[in-house]
Amino acid sequence: MILLSKLEPKIKSKRWKPEAEAELLEKWANEDTYEFNMDSGKSIYTVDTPPPYLSGPMGVHQVIHYTQIDTIARYRRMQGLEVNFPLGIDRNGLPVEVRVEKDLGIVMRETPRDEFLRLCKERLDADETITLGSFKRLGIAFNTYEDEGSYRTDSPRYRAVTQASFIEIWNKGLVYSDYRPNNYCFECGTTIADAEVEYAERPTKLHYLHFEVEGLEPLEIATTRPELLCACGAIFVHPDDARYTTYHGKTATVPIFGMEVSIIPSPTAQMEFGTGALMVCSYGDQGDVMAFRDYALTPIQAVSTDGTMTEAAGEYAGMTIIEARKKIVDDLKEKKLLFKQEDSIQRVPQCWRSRTPIEFIAMDEYYVKQTEFIEELHKIAADTPFYPPFHKQILIDWLNRVTVDWPVSRRRFYGTELPIWYCNSCKEPVVPELTDEPRYYQPWREDPPFTKCPKCNAEDGFTGEDRTFDTWMDSSISGMQAVGYMRNDKLFKKAFDNVMRPQGKDIVRTWLYYSLLRTLQLTGKAAFSEVWVSGHVVDDKGEAMSKSKGNSPPPMPFVEKYGADAMRIYGALEAGLGSDVRFSEDRLAGVSKFMTKLYNIARFISMFPIPEPIEFKNLTPVDQWILAEANALVERIVPECNLLDFHKPAIEIRGFTWNFFADHVLEMIKGRSFNTDGTFTEEEQRSAWFTLHEVLKIISRALAPMTPFITDRIYRDLYDETGVHRHSYPSYEKTWKSDLVEHSELLMQTNSGFWKFKREAGISLRQGLPEAYISENLKPWANDLQAMHGVEKISFGKPKDDKFVEVTLPESEDVIYILPPLEEKE
Ligand SMILES: [Zn+2]
Ligand SMILES: [Zn+2]
Repeated sequence: MILLSKLEPKIKSKRWKPEAEAELLEKWANEDTYEFNMDSGKSIYTVDTPPPYLSGPMGVHQVIHYTQIDTIARYRRMQGLEVNFPLGIDRNGLPVEVRVEKDLGIVMRETPRDEFLRLCKERLDADETITLGSFKRLGIAFNTYEDEGSYRTDSPRYRAVTQASFIEIWNKGLVYSDYRPNNYCFECGTTIADAEVEYAERPTKLHYLHFEVEGLEPLEIATTRPELLCACGAIFVHPDDARYTTYHGKTATVPIFGMEVSIIPSPTAQMEFGTGALMVCSYGDQGDVMAFRDYALTPIQAVSTDGTMTEAAGEYAGMTIIEARKKIVDDLKEKKLLFKQEDSIQRVPQCWRSRTPIEFIAMDEYYVKQTEFIEELHKIAADTPFYPPFHKQILIDWLNRVTVDWPVSRRRFYGTELPIWYCNSCKEPVVPELTDEPRYYQPWREDPPFTKCPKCNAEDGFTGEDRTFDTWMDSSISGMQAVGYMRNDKLFKKAFDNVMRPQGKDIVRTWLYYSLLRTLQLTGKAAFSEVWVSGHVVDDKGEAMSKSKGNSPPPMPFVEKYGADAMRIYGALEAGLGSDVRFSEDRLAGVSKFMTKLYNIARFISMFPIPEPIEFKNLTPVDQWILAEANALVERIVPECNLLDFHKPAIEIRGFTWNFFADHVLEMIKGRSFNTDGTFTEEEQRSAWFTLHEVLKIISRALAPMTPFITDRIYRDLYDETGVHRHSYPSYEKTWKSDLVEHSELLMQTNSGFWKFKREAGISLRQGLPEAYISENLKPWANDLQAMHGVEKISFGKPKDDKFVEVTLPESEDVIYILPPLEEKE
C-alpha cells in the first residue's frame, strides 16, 4: 500500500472560471504557439480564412462560424500538418460607405474622394479593433495577430495583387467593356452581378390592358409593371396560340403613350399566363433583357439610376417607380383602357446585400468572361471533396444558371481601383505592364506609369478610370494570397495545392464560385483541395437571426459569462456539419456545465500521482478494459473529425466523459486509487493512477480543438507546462483491446442496480452492504465493485438464501441479488 501523504489536488483553483481563459491567451501569444513556419518540413495545410466583413461587433452566427473553422485548423495542426491560418479582414466595398454616409449625414459623390476614403478607413479601423478583440477572446488560433502575416483586402499590398491579377487576365483577353443592361441596385447605387441577386415572392397586382390593333379586336394584355408602358418595344404571342394567329405581323398601339409596336410570334410568350399576350419592355425583367437582345429591339431606358422615371416616361418623368405605377393605373382606369385587376404573386429579383428590388439598367461596364469556363468548373466541382458532400449541389445548381459574363466595375469609392487609363487622343483603355513586385495604382489621382498610347502613339496624356472593382474580385483570391501568390514564389510552389476553403452556404455562388473561376483563369488549376460548407445559425425557434427582429443578442457577453470553450463546443454539439445550428442561452448554459464537470474530474484525478508509464499488458484487467473503451471512443471519433464534422465527436466525448468515465469508472476505481485500507496491491493502485491520467489525457487532447482553454489548463497543470496544443490528436492503439468491453453495458446496469436498490431502500449511497450476487460475467470487476458499493462479499449467480432482494436492472432483463444491511448506521 502506498500511503498518500497528502491528498492535495495539483489543480489548485476550485472552480473553472471564464477569466481563467484570458490568462492562457497571453501565454499563447507569447509562446507563438500557432506560428506558421513554411520551412518546418511538415506538409503545409492552408485554411483560406473567410475574411469577415467589418460592420460593428460580431453576431452569434459569426462567433460560432469562426470557432468551427478554428476547430478544423487546430485539429489539422494536431494531426501534424503545418497549418497556415492567416488572419484576414475584408474591408472593401459598399457597407462601410453606406454606414459612413448614414452616420455622418454625408453623400459619397458630394464629398471629396480623398476625404471620403479617410472617413471609411477610420470607421473600419475602429470596427476592426473590436472584431480582433473578439477573435482573440474566442481563442481563434490564427498564425499571428501581428500585422505581418495577416491581410486586409484594402491594404496597398493586397490591392496591388488584385490589380495585377486583373492585368494578367486582361492580357489573356478575358476582360471586355460593353454597354448592356445589368442588375442595378438603387439602395447600393451600383451595378451588381447575377450572383448577388436573390429572389423573393411578393404579392402584386396583375393589370389587364387594351392595346388597339387596326382592323381587329383590341389585344388584351396583362402586366405587373404598367409604369413601363413607355418603354414597350414589342408584343409577343406564342406562335401556336390560335387566339392570336391573325395578329402576327400587325402592330398594336401602346395605351397612353400612343406608339406602335410590332406583334411578334415568339415562344417566350406563355399561353397560360394572363391573356397569353406579353408586353415586352426595356427592361422589366431578365426575360425582357434577353428579348431585346434576341429581336434587336431599340431599348428605351424608363428608369434612371436614382430610381425615378426618365424623360421617356413623359408626364410621369421624375416620379418614383411606385408613384408612377399608381398614377398610370389611375389614368388607365379613367381612359377605360384598364378592364380588370387581379392579385398575383411575383418573383421579384432583389439585391443580396440590401434586400431591395433591383431594376435593369443599361450602362457601360467591364466584364470578366465566365461562361466559357463553366464546363471546366463543372469538372473541378466534381473532383473537389466537399464537406458535407450534399452542399456541392449549391455550386452545381449555380454553375447551371450562369448565362452571362461577370460585370466587375462598380461606381463606388472604397474599393480596389480598376488599373486603367484612357488615351486623351484616341480614348483607348490602357493597363500598366505587370511588374515583378505588384504595384498598387490609383488612376483617379495618379499619372499612369507610361506616357505613350500603344494604339495611336500619341503622348497627349491619359485620363484615369475612376471606378472600383466588385469586392468579390478581391476576396476571390484570398486563398491564393494566403499562399503567397505574386509575393512569395517559394511558398506558392509549396502550398498552393493544399488550400482548404471553409465558408457558409449562403456565399457558395459568390465567394466560392468566384474563387474557383479566378484561380482557374490565373493558374489553370483547381483552387481548393477541400471545401467545407457550414449551415446557418438560427434562433431557438429555427428562425434567421437578425438585429432588427431582436432575436440576435450580442454574443460576447455570453462568452464572458459561460466561457469561450462553452461557446465553441456549442456549435459542434448542436448540429451536424452543413445543418443549421439553433442558438439559445439556456442550452449554452447547459453546455457550460460540461466544462465544469470536466474540470472537476481533472481536479479530482490531479490528487493522484502520475506514475511512470506502465505497459498495457501489465495493467489490471479492469484498467485494460477502461483504456480499451477510451480507445474505442477514439476509433469512433477520428473518422468523423477527418470529415471535418465535429458534431458526433463532441457528443461522443461528452457522453464518454460524463456518463461513462465520471459516473462509473471514477466511482469504481477511486477505492483502488485511494486504497486507504490496503485491500489492493501497490501494482493495482499504480495501475489505477496510470489509467486515470491516461484517460484524462486522451479526453483533453480529443477535446483540445473544440475547447482549447480548459484542456490546455489541464495539460499545463498536470502533464506538460507547454500545454496541450503541440501534442498530437489521440490515435487508435492497436494493442489496446480487452474482451471485457462486451460486458460494459451489463457492468453499468449493475452499478445502476445497486444505486436503485439503495435509493429505494432509503439508505445512503455510501452505506455498506453485507453481500450481493451479480452476473458471472462481471468477475474481473469484483474487487473494484466491492469497493465501489461497499459490499463486504460479492458472489456470482443466484443465492439460495431467500433473504436476498431481487433487483431488476433498470434497462435490461438481468437481475442482481442484494442482502440488505441489518441495521442502518451512518
Ligand atoms: Zn443593394
Ligand atoms: Zn491613343
